Amino acid sequence: MGDKLNLQRQSFLGAGSEIVLGRSRAALVGLGGGGSHIAQQLAHIGLGNFLVIDSDFIDDTNLNRLVGATMEDVRLGTAKIDIAERVIKAVNPAAETIKRRANWTEVTAELRDVDVIFACVDSIGCRSELEGFARRFLIPLIDIGMDVHESSGEFSISGQVMLSMPGKPCMRCMGLVTDEALAKEAARYGAAGGKPQVVWPNGTLASIAVGLFMKLVTPWETHKVTPLLLEYDGDLQTVAPSNKLAYLPAYCKHFDSLNELGDPFWTPDALAVVE
Ligand SMILES: [Zn+2]
Repeated sequence: MGDKLNLQRQSFLGAGSEIVLGRSRAALVGLGGGGSHIAQQLAHIGLGNFLVIDSDFIDDTNLNRLVGATMEDVRLGTAKIDIAERVIKAVNPAAETIKRRANWTEVTAELRDVDVIFACVDSIGCRSELEGFARRFLIPLIDIGMDVHESSGEFSISGQVMLSMPGKPCMRCMGLVTDEALAKEAARYGAAGGKPQVVWPNGTLASIAVGLFMKLVTPWETHKVTPLLLEYDGDLQTVAPSNKLAYLPAYCKHFDSLNELGDPFWTPDALAVVE
């Protein structure tokens, strides 16, 4: 009873898991369809510290999928980070929520101070840059993405959840980021209308992402292998470890230089230029 979140029913997560979760800090970059689900779930599991980052305000095209948003928010044009904070605080008033209505590149000093980053952003370019940042500061990054494809007038939904760990295969290793896809996206930039998005695949992907987070920070299931890439088939309603995992290199060659660690302004290369 009282104002403290009672986590008795999840004590199987391991001794001290409640304390670990209470002291952990996660960043959510993007509080739209995917990020709003993740914020809600992390609040329920007892995460103590949130950094929520999104520059956007809600509009009427978001209400089909933004968890916690109301028609009144649409009328008022509430910031998405304010909706996230309201959802988090309603579940766990003790949770610390730092809100930044900004692009993540404007708040890197705070972003490098988190234990895990959730990437819930639309563009391939943005998730790729965010992964580069996470690698630089050795922060695990969990990325979710969904897509709708048309083929002969039929629409299929797919998606994926990826755990990007320092030293392990990256988005390029897994084929989620390619020069071709980046060029295609750049050419499309500014095209009218947003990508199709619906609530239930986002919910599925967000739940998988939170599961990966729990494996990272609590003693639960640490003896079992965690697949780094899980694929969602929206037609079959299945999530499974990706077939790509069998062909991946054990280590990433895209982020393997010590010069790519830490603050970019203080690498030996940067200092050489200053001289
Ligand atoms: Zn790589």
